[in-house]
Amino acid sequence: MPESGSGMTPDTLPRARLIDGRASAARLRAEVARQVTALGGRHGVTPGLAVILVGEDPASEIYVRNKGRQTLEAGMRSFETRLPASVSQAELLGHVARLNADSAVHGILVQLPLPRQIDERAIIDAIAPHKDVDGFSIINTGLLAARGTGMIPCTPLGCLLLLKEYLGNLGGQRALVIGRSNIVGKPMVQLLLREHCTVTIAHSRTRDLAGECRRADILIAAIGKPQIIRGDWIRPGATVIDVGINRISVPAPDGPRERLVGDVDFDAAVRVAGAITPVPGGVGPMTIACLLRNTVTAACAQHHIDPGGLSG
Ligand code: NAD
Repeated sequence: MPESGSGMTPDTLPRARLIDGRASAARLRAEVARQVTALGGRHGVTPGLAVILVGEDPASEIYVRNKGRQTLEAGMRSFETRLPASVSQAELLGHVARLNADSAVHGILVQLPLPRQIDERAIIDAIAPHKDVDGFSIINTGLLAARGTGMIPCTPLGCLLLLKEYLGNLGGQRALVIGRSNIVGKPMVQLLLREHCTVTIAHSRTRDLAGECRRADILIAAIGKPQIIRGDWIRPGATVIDVGINRISVPAPDGPRERLVGDVDFDAAVRVAGAITPVPGGVGPMTIACLLRNTVTAACAQHHIDPGGLSG
């Protein structure tokens, strides 16, 4: 709070730099589109991304629609397979095998979550590793952990690109990753280690989360609990990446309204942090942009083309 008589009101207190994920994602998509044009013009290759959607989960429908639209906007081919929630494991494996064998398809993504009768792990691992643009298969997980290579999961890759854009060299920074899921927390840890950070991973059984947060130069929250990271837990000047997407109900004059918030109490944290991602408009937009980037990477690898040679 401002000292009395300082003349500072909450509106004039210093605020963290906003890490603008929408702008970074737009730049990344433009770069991908340039690479796609070069791939077509110089090599006659059009990258193709196939998405399998099982059932009618409304959130998954929105993600898949956005992925399809952005894939086409980048100049790539988009393939969609829609299957009923009653699909069997064998049928779904059959669709994955068909896409694995299709040379027009360079990237395959199975939208999660899958219905209960399906063994999610078996489906993900059935995707050919070189087409696994989500990077969730056991081969890509192992490659990232052991060699720092392979197809990198899109959300942590998006977080890393934002961090590098805003901070430059991350070497030696103390990073805290909160959340240990296979799709965000664990690959994030591997990426930060690859950048020579000193990494701590926290989770639901961590004893002193506030203390861990206060030590972190870089704090990445991937928890899925609205605003549980408090402003006074943030180390002054720290960089905060909020992966969480949570829907909360807030009062409004014409009745309660739904609002998206992250895992971090943004209004408090923005007064303490050096830089912070908003929700929405931070990590979210980077995820699909990274998926497009991974699809180009996959297409290049399948045609023995150096993606670095496509720019410029
Ligand atoms: P998850 O449920 O698989 O994992 C959550 C993790 O948080 C677990 O490892 C758990 O140990 C930890 N956790 C739970 N409660 C905790 C607590 N009180 N203190 C500390 N740690 C705690 O979730 P996920 O799939 O990794 O996703 C995490 C969040 O990120 C969700 O809100 C999800 O919607 C969001 N997400 C966003 C994007 C994006 O594109 N922005 C992509 C994926 C996930």
